[in-house]
Amino acid sequence: MSDIIAENVVVTINYTLRNDAGEVLDTSEGDEPLTYLQGFGNIVPGLENALEGKRVGDKVTVAVTPEEGYGEKDPEGLQVVPRDAFPEGATIEIGDNFTAELDDDEFVTLWVVGVEGDEVHDDTNHPLAGVTLNFEVEIVELRAAHANELAHGHPHGRDGHAHHH
Ligand code: ZN
Repeated sequence: MSDIIAENVVVTINYTLRNDAGEVLDTSEGDEPLTYLQGFGNIVPGLENALEGKRVGDKVTVAVTPEEGYGEKDPEGLQVVPRDAFPEGATIEIGDNFTAELDDDEFVTLWVVGVEGDEVHDDTNHPLAGVTLNFEVEIVELRAAHANELAHGHPHGRDGHAHHH
């Protein structure tokens, strides 16, 4: 029944992601393929839309704009947080991300871009904000999602039996 990629289908893909300069930013090559649940925002919207309706064996090349990817870069995104706002003993390294709660029950993801003495420099921008995402994808496997995967909004591994949270 899951011959084509549609909502509620668990999709396994091999992929390579390059920026406009052709540099590889991420790839499943030499690693496990990526498994995600179509229709639940597990992957960026531009890629999810491009894969809709595809079949096993199909190869898809798509350039995803920042609007359909990780967003435009917000120049106001940089902030400085005192080191002691973090749990004592926590290691904080460039590239780490964490979730901070704002006043009004809103949450924001911050990416560490620098650590200087007692100050941690963070950015609300995803590291790939403002970047056009050039994906090359091959569809490896499709299957229907299990009920608990639909309830969680993500797949439980390629075979649906992965143990997690
Ligand atoms: Zn789950």
